[in-house]
Amino acid sequence: MDSAKFKAFVVKEIEDKKYIREIVEKNIDDLPEGEVLMEVQYSSLNYKDALSAHGNKGVTRNYPHTPGIDAAGIVAESSSNAFAKGDKILITGYDLGMNTSGGFQQYIRVPSSWVIKLPDNLSLKEAMTYGTAGFTAALSVYKLISSGIKPEDGEILVTGSTGGVGSIAAALLANLGYLVVGVTGKQDKREMLLDLGVYDVISREEADDKSGKPLLKGRWAGVIDTVGGNILATAIKSTEYGGVVTCCGNAASAELPASVYPFILRGISLLGVDSVQCPIDLRLKIWELLSSDWKVDISSNVEEITLEELEQKINLILQGKISGRVIVNLKK
Ligand code: NDP
Repeated sequence: MDSAKFKAFVVKEIEDKKYIREIVEKNIDDLPEGEVLMEVQYSSLNYKDALSAHGNKGVTRNYPHTPGIDAAGIVAESSSNAFAKGDKILITGYDLGMNTSGGFQQYIRVPSSWVIKLPDNLSLKEAMTYGTAGFTAALSVYKLISSGIKPEDGEILVTGSTGGVGSIAAALLANLGYLVVGVTGKQDKREMLLDLGVYDVISREEADDKSGKPLLKGRWAGVIDTVGGNILATAIKSTEYGGVVTCCGNAASAELPASVYPFILRGISLLGVDSVQCPIDLRLKIWELLSSDWKVDISSNVEEITLEELEQKINLILQGKISGRVIVNLKK
């Protein structure tokens, strides 16, 4: 195995703050230490991969580097008792694709503590169709439900609703019987959202209050926010008494220009969602749900690409122009 060569997408810093991306041949012994060597079958594109591919040092400190925070494939070698050659496995998060060589290549080597066995009822391709985006969507929905928000409580707002996290969150909620309202900047994707089960769509402008008021008319029983900034602040101000807002992303902004009033006058809760260091018990629970009771068919919103097609999609996701999910087939 040590002499095997394989294909990898690599980001290089060619001069200060200037990066190029290319497909190169790597050797198995170029990979970092770890108990599990995976032959990667599928990876997926997430917003964070695009940041890593464009030299964001908050995500990746050192280059050359192979991004890819998700990977699903077959165990090629294992020195861990928990996994054997031939097992189907998946990884999302931890340091994969950040400062550890990631899933945009045909082999990865990782610590066994990052690896989970592929759940029954899920193919490797389906696992990556969810990927970190789907996992984060499910974690957000799980937090909302665990906080006591029920379908009969009223409408749930999902921001960034055509994006990876947003579209899967919308589909999961609709499938569980919730009334979902999607915010989107892509008015031409209204049909896609209705097909996912969303019952109303509002524009980014409507969801982005500029009045400066500390509270707005309460409409939402719950909110799944993926964009941050003034859209999150507007959602918080428009949440009904006792409502719950989850926050996982900053596609619009990392700022939160809000006051304490929605919290102290309406008793609403703001819950943070992190998929990267999510504890293993909760991680297994979420994947179990995604493969059974919560399983949703999102295949019509998935585009399958090769490593060679990745650069173009990376540029599009940075511009907020991708709808649904992009998965990368590493067997091609
Ligand atoms: P995507 O790029 O797939 O989706 C983001 C969506 O946000 C876009 O499709 C767009 O949807 C909307 N959007 C983009 N730019 C803007 C803008 N300037 N203003 C308002 N809305 C905008 O990304 P993901 O779904 O993969 O990730 C969403 C966010 O969640 C990212 O910030 C990502 O880093 C974060 N994230 C966090 C995780 C965690 O563990 N906390 C895990 C996974 C993701 P539309 O056009 O429909 O409005």
